[in-house]
Amino acid sequence: MEKHGYDVTYLGIGCDGKINLEELEAAITDKTGLISVMFVNNEIGTRQPIEEIGKIAKKHGVLFHTDGVQALGNFRIDVKEMNIDMLSVSSHKIYGPKGVGALYIRKGLRISNYIHGGAQEMKRRAGTENLAGIVGFGKAAEVSMHNFDWHVKHCSELRNYLVEEILNKIPNTYLNAPLEDRLPGNANITFEFIEGEAMLLYLDSHGISVSTGSACSSASLVPSHVLTALGVPVEKIHGTLRLTVGDFTTKEDIDYTVKALIEVVDKLRKISSVSEQKGW
Ligand SMILES: *Cc1c(COP(=O)(O)O)cnc(C)c1O
Repeated sequence: MEKHGYDVTYLGIGCDGKINLEELEAAITDKTGLISVMFVNNEIGTRQPIEEIGKIAKKHGVLFHTDGVQALGNFRIDVKEMNIDMLSVSSHKIYGPKGVGALYIRKGLRISNYIHGGAQEMKRRAGTENLAGIVGFGKAAEVSMHNFDWHVKHCSELRNYLVEEILNKIPNTYLNAPLEDRLPGNANITFEFIEGEAMLLYLDSHGISVSTGSACSSASLVPSHVLTALGVPVEKIHGTLRLTVGDFTTKEDIDYTVKALIEVVDKLRKISSVSEQKGW
């Protein structure tokens, strides 16, 4: 939008990972047309106060869009109750097929077409629909709703166990952002005096997939903007891993992962240039 000449105000987050509602409200001017806030962050798993943001948007007559990709299947979403005008979601994050997503647009709200040419989707999105993808997404949504309570319990219990095990068994580790209001399967942990990339490669060779930063920027070594906004210093960001559990993760998987982590952390700290002794 900035490229199209709009002014954009970026809001920071507190140490709880959430935006400040007073700051949000104070940033609204008579020119403000849109508020867009992620429902749930994909790196640290923080759920934003969507209900309150929706109320503020409504009070000021500003449209409210939220990226609900991580929220889908993990938190109750009620677009009406939450005053959400637009909600974007993606299929593969709920075990549906890749390459298909959806944008909810409140009835009565008119948006301009963004893929021009054909008359599909009421001329808003030209191009032949990916029917198999759409049907697959629909089925995945149905399964996700059916499994909702089980999924949330399963993932949060395993995640809590994973966090507890790491923090108890590996010294100089800590969890970024609180466990409250957090994506059930998400843990984001800093291992001090270590390079995350080295940990990632070692774990990968043991069949464990983790990420440093978000998957979308996995090819870059630029420190995560999310952790930067959270106030994590840069050398600690480089020692940070995002570990996530899902429906198919078992307690044995967690034990296996913690064991591998203990090994790799020990190995790397012995040879680390980012050591405590060297003043980091
Ligand atoms: C994965 C993700 C996206 C991107 O969705 P894709 O369908 O993978 O392109 C956007 N926002 C959030 C919060 C995500 O987690």
